[in-house]
Amino acid sequence: MQHTTFRAADVNNNAYLDLRLTPGTTVTYHGSKTEAHGTYTVQPCACRHCAARVAVGRLSNRYALHSPTTNKRVLVHVRHTSVTPLPTEDELQEAGIFLPTKLVAVHLRRILREAFPATTFSVRIGNQRTDARYDITVRWSGGPSRTAVATATAHLKASYSTPGRYTARPVTVTTSGRHRSGRPVLNNLHLHHTV
Ligand SMILES: [Zn+2]
Repeated sequence: MQHTTFRAADVNNNAYLDLRLTPGTTVTYHGSKTEAHGTYTVQPCACRHCAARVAVGRLSNRYALHSPTTNKRVLVHVRHTSVTPLPTEDELQEAGIFLPTKLVAVHLRRILREAFPATTFSVRIGNQRTDARYDITVRWSGGPSRTAVATATAHLKASYSTPGRYTARPVTVTTSGRHRSGRPVLNNLHLHHTV
């Protein structure tokens, strides 16, 4: 079983997760257009801006989202941090060892401290508006952008390194000298950034 290694350098590269998803991957969209939240399939974005990039030999770094039923294009120029791939049917059948949300929060505090040492983050289980015991809410002021934090934490929600596999890889957390490993149990990660 391969474990996630987190490299702080990834955080500073906004293209880290851009277009890691193969065309046709099913995702949930949770970006800023809340009325459009739902399930889609991804394609590379071909809007005017992205087409201009491609024309000068740079890859499109955003997704277009298509309806999974009609394949009609619904949204364009969507950031990688606004979509999360859904596990495949096969992955959902797999048994596994899970890392409780409480320990995911411990891991999350550690990676945020490593990646953004100058910023203080509040990491709490739950979400103020709902009873969500498998959700984590992160708040911070100033410092890194929401996209940078979403990039640094994306591996807790999904795997992007193996085509066709989307379930988050196991992570190892050490508390009081004890190692615990498992797939992170994290339904939603709420990021609240105050500039
Ligand atoms: Zn675009």
